[in-house]
Amino acid sequence: MGINRVQFQKGLSMAQFMERYGTEEKCHAAVVALRWPNGFVCPECKDRRHYTFERKGLRYWQCASCREQTTVMCGTVFESSKLPLTTWFLAMHLLTQAKNNVSALELQRHLGVRYKTAWLLKHKLMQVMSERRRIANWMAGSRSTMPTWAANCLAERAGAVRRTRYRSLPPCRPPRPATH
Ligand SMILES: [Zn+2]
Repeated sequence: MGINRVQFQKGLSMAQFMERYGTEEKCHAAVVALRWPNGFVCPECKDRRHYTFERKGLRYWQCASCREQTTVMCGTVFESSKLPLTTWFLAMHLLTQAKNNVSALELQRHLGVRYKTAWLLKHKLMQVMSERRRIANWMAGSRSTMPTWAANCLAERAGAVRRTRYRSLPPCRPPRPATH
């Protein structure tokens, strides 16, 4: 494959992207800033007092009031995904930086995942990234915390999309890749 055109778009270069979001820890920190820009808020009772602990390599927040346990991924598009956050972030980067539509096949090549995974990833992200240009600007900008609109876009809206829109749609199945 030739030189990827998306690397030459204005905004975040691939090198800058890798610097900011190249590790699981950095992506996790970005999602934490996205969900709780002013610190943890219990999704159940809205209390801010909490403890954190790790279980099976995942960081949990436990509400000191109602004892609800949550991870930063709960209620976001990342929830129940087995893919590393680095893969999600790279997909977001590729989708937001591209001038033209990025095919699932292209994503598959860049991400090194199966075609079905790339297809699902793309469609989930396209549903929550209707404000993708603004997300791209945020990713390229110097702000370290994600602004509220982006948090809403990626977190709460993802939940809302799952609850409402998916229900009225036929089951989300990827088409078979075209055979050449
Ligand atoms: Zn609580």
